[in-house]
Amino acid sequence: MNRRLAISIQGVVQGVGFRPFVYRTAVESSLSGWVRNRPDGVRIEVQGPAERLDRFLEALRQDHPRQAVIDSIEVREIAPADDAGQGFEILTSDADAEKRPSIPADLATCPECQQEIESTAERRFAYPFTNCTNCGPRYSIIESLPYDRPRTSMKSFSFCPECEAEYRNPLDRRFHAQPIACPRCGPRLELLAHDGRSLACEDEALRQAIEAVLAGKVLALKGLGGFQLLVDATDDRAVNLLRERKHREAKPLAVMFPSLEALRQCCSVSSQEAEALLSPQAPILLVRRLTGGPTRVLAESVAPGNPRVGAMLPYTPLHRLLLAGLERPVVCTSGNLSDEPMCVETREALARLGKVADLFLVHDRPIVRPVDDSVAKVGPRGLELLRRARGFAPLPIRLKEKAPTILAVGGHLKCTAALSLGDQVIVSQHLGDLDSAEGAALLERTVDDLLRFFDARPEMVACDLHPEYVSTRIAERIARNWSIPLERVQHHHAHVAACVAEQSIEGEVLGLAWDGTGWGLDGTIWGGEALACAGPELRRFASLRPFRLPGGEMAMREPRRSALGLLHEAGELRAKELTGQWFSPEEFQALCGILERQVSSPVTSSIGRLFDAVSAVLGIRLRNGFEGQAAMELEFAADGVADEESYPLLLVPRGDLLLLDWAPMLEALLAERDHGIPVPILSARFHNSLADGALAIARQAAIPKVVLCGGCFQNDRLTRTVRERLEGSGFEVFIPRRVPPNDGSISLGQVLVAARRRSSTSESALRLKTNS
Ligand code: ZN
Ligand code: ZN
Ligand code: FE
Repeated sequence: MNRRLAISIQGVVQGVGFRPFVYRTAVESSLSGWVRNRPDGVRIEVQGPAERLDRFLEALRQDHPRQAVIDSIEVREIAPADDAGQGFEILTSDADAEKRPSIPADLATCPECQQEIESTAERRFAYPFTNCTNCGPRYSIIESLPYDRPRTSMKSFSFCPECEAEYRNPLDRRFHAQPIACPRCGPRLELLAHDGRSLACEDEALRQAIEAVLAGKVLALKGLGGFQLLVDATDDRAVNLLRERKHREAKPLAVMFPSLEALRQCCSVSSQEAEALLSPQAPILLVRRLTGGPTRVLAESVAPGNPRVGAMLPYTPLHRLLLAGLERPVVCTSGNLSDEPMCVETREALARLGKVADLFLVHDRPIVRPVDDSVAKVGPRGLELLRRARGFAPLPIRLKEKAPTILAVGGHLKCTAALSLGDQVIVSQHLGDLDSAEGAALLERTVDDLLRFFDARPEMVACDLHPEYVSTRIAERIARNWSIPLERVQHHHAHVAACVAEQSIEGEVLGLAWDGTGWGLDGTIWGGEALACAGPELRRFASLRPFRLPGGEMAMREPRRSALGLLHEAGELRAKELTGQWFSPEEFQALCGILERQVSSPVTSSIGRLFDAVSAVLGIRLRNGFEGQAAMELEFAADGVADEESYPLLLVPRGDLLLLDWAPMLEALLAERDHGIPVPILSARFHNSLADGALAIARQAAIPKVVLCGGCFQNDRLTRTVRERLEGSGFEVFIPRRVPPNDGSISLGQVLVAARRRSSTSESALRLKTNS
């Protein structure tokens, strides 16, 4: 007795080999019916005997491609149709499905493809561009939608007969896999000297590249989403050479390990961490280094003084072949200068990285847009992204509510752009900082891309409140060109809203937005804010007691200036100590002068700057080599310290605002320092004090849901202690996970705030109408 089921599946089920999987599963069980993409997922009708249908449903849930994410499966029984015995079909997508397709993300090599490149019997043995429906490049090669080979950078490669047969066969793993290729018909490797001369091709290119890295040279590699720079991570001299040439003195470098086993020789890796590293997204994962023992394989210069290392496993066949030849971990960092976007074209890479790399291992598959490696860590509730790019972008984030079509341009550092379409928000890959002309150009290109991909006509554009941001200027121009309204969203409001959007939090929340810098509603620099947020509304409930930053921008790079500003505000100015240790007498005079006269020394309530100041006061770091260095080293100083004590950090009313007054804490900290209490203890107590402060604020606000966001919550110790204090007192704590806590989430938050403003104005307009 045949029955028929109508099945609707929602989630990430398009562009991930889901329909071929459904097809194969149905055909293997001799079921009839069809599968097709729908705007919101996949729709199946399937018919056959009851127990085979049960097995089919079971397979849908259990055996689906690992890169697919099923949010929900809805099953209804419907009347049997007369297609019984006619087999199973993949139907073309609904017409409306074409209007809003999703763009698949790049995926790490799947186990089957891995096996093929390792097996001499396979025609893709050692072929660096092997991929299938379950893996390989996607977003980085797509030129336009719908996603089909002629609209990717694979369009110039025509199939050989064997590849074509695989592509056309529904039972093959490569059925409709757009980027597939083989040694006969696909992209090829070439090794170039730094002046662009060709040195070798294919296997020989790979062999010479491996030799060069083993000899301590710097290799520029055209990877999946852009150029990367590789050096031997066990060779201190090679790592320092790269640092010197890249002008990157101290910032930690990511390391690619040949295998999980090799990684476990240097780092402790939990089963959850291993799962993340081996996942199709294969991010750079922050894992703890093993201490002591015979495991000092990594050069100290990879991540100086850092108890963790950013580790990843080879995620393309090319990386896999390289690492198999090298048999050791390699530094694998973005091919750029400081914070510019990655190079994607060979000519551009030769021009920009010609003085950094000795050799260039390149190929002829064009990269359409830069897609950096994602960075993540495993937290108490699973994976938390710190940089959202390869493997994750541009998969949509689903909102609880439908939004108008809003384009958001993000902030200034770690910029992303976002576009809302119905109840989905597409957040672009991490674009980097906008200080360089290249960075700004990349943001503009990304905005164009998003609009073009989805054939979208924005109804509003959203940007930061900061009048001088490059992104703000771009948004102003877009608003003019499209004649659409511009919504300016306060930076920390956007931080809180991003977490609300990502985790579909309902009702009012208290957002603790702690970061470095954001333009405040009062024109001062905010960064230690407690914001009560409901709907589109924002109420500044509490803030860090403000202090001045002598020299403004310069203070971002020089924690000693933050310390001076803090001590000056506290009236704790110990001129002798400071002049001797931190500044020349002339500098000191000048900086005190501007603080006294209140010129060139903007007011800030930034917790990031408080971290800087304390780092300097404790003698940890006076000048930053990279953004956040002083704060990171302050965190690391307390590594492994279990100390429960804290300093007084009190809430005091000022007008209708509560201020978190750091002065008594600073006094106690300085006293203990002068008594010779070790720095690790002082750092731990400083972190504890901030957690006390967070709890005091939450209790006063009495809002049960608390969001922790902003760059400071990349600090593991801070996040852990604040969370424990709040949860211990019954608060529900939210931390962004699928978007980073840092400014990479600003664009998503801007979308939500703009959408809610729009819906509240249309509601009040409606109310006016009904009243009159
Ligand atoms: Zn594969
Ligand atoms: Zn082929
Ligand atoms: Fe921020």
